[in-house]
Amino acid sequence: MSDNFLTLGIRREVNSFLQQMGITEPTPIQTKAIPMAMAGKDLVAQAQTGTGKTLAFLLPILESIQPDKPYIQALIVTPTRELALQITKEAKKLGDKLAVNVLALYGGHTLHKQVNQLQNAPHLVIGTPGRLLDLLRRKKLSLSGVSKLVLDEADQMLQMGFLDDVEEIINQTSSKHQTMLFSATIPPKIRSLAARYMERPIDIRVQTTNV
Ligand code: ADP
Ligand code: MG
Repeated sequence: MSDNFLTLGIRREVNSFLQQMGITEPTPIQTKAIPMAMAGKDLVAQAQTGTGKTLAFLLPILESIQPDKPYIQALIVTPTRELALQITKEAKKLGDKLAVNVLALYGGHTLHKQVNQLQNAPHLVIGTPGRLLDLLRRKKLSLSGVSKLVLDEADQMLQMGFLDDVEEIINQTSSKHQTMLFSATIPPKIRSLAARYMERPIDIRVQTTNV
């Protein structure tokens, strides 16, 4: 029998929402990463673009969030506004049904609005490095309750010169958190970031297949 989301540890309720969205079978990166992520392991996951990395971290995060606790429990850092919006869209589709409050924080002219939205006690924040740091420095954002941190598309964050910002964000996140890094490629600087900030990270790799 091939893996389905239930055998990976996803709740029936969430599995049926996924089915309604036409998502019935996990992709290879999801099959490998979800059980490790749910077990609380730090991980470095490499798989090419378009292979379903977003749900590989979103589903474990949604399984772990306790909606009755009104603070930020998970943070996803992603390089661009477009990616932040895409992830937020997927997160809200499921989050709305699970009473999980999702907030996107990215650059633009909406700082004031985002500061207000932070008063609504989001459980899950998806943000770009610059805006997250800005809000942290203004003391408008607290990451002291974050137990799951995702660094998404880490190679793009490196290329865009965001690694120092990312390090500062990691340093402002509660000391006891799980860190999961997802990337299409793992250049040496990303590998060394992982070595410095992760505890015995599990390496997960899905080979590129030529179709
Ligand atoms: P990546 O981050 O690896 O580039 P995404 O997470 O953005 O890829 O996923 C690419 C597309 O595949 C999205 O449209 C997403 O909804 C879809 N997708 C993800 N997982 C599955 C799945 N298990 N079955 C079908 N489609 C999926
Ligand atoms: Mg992605």
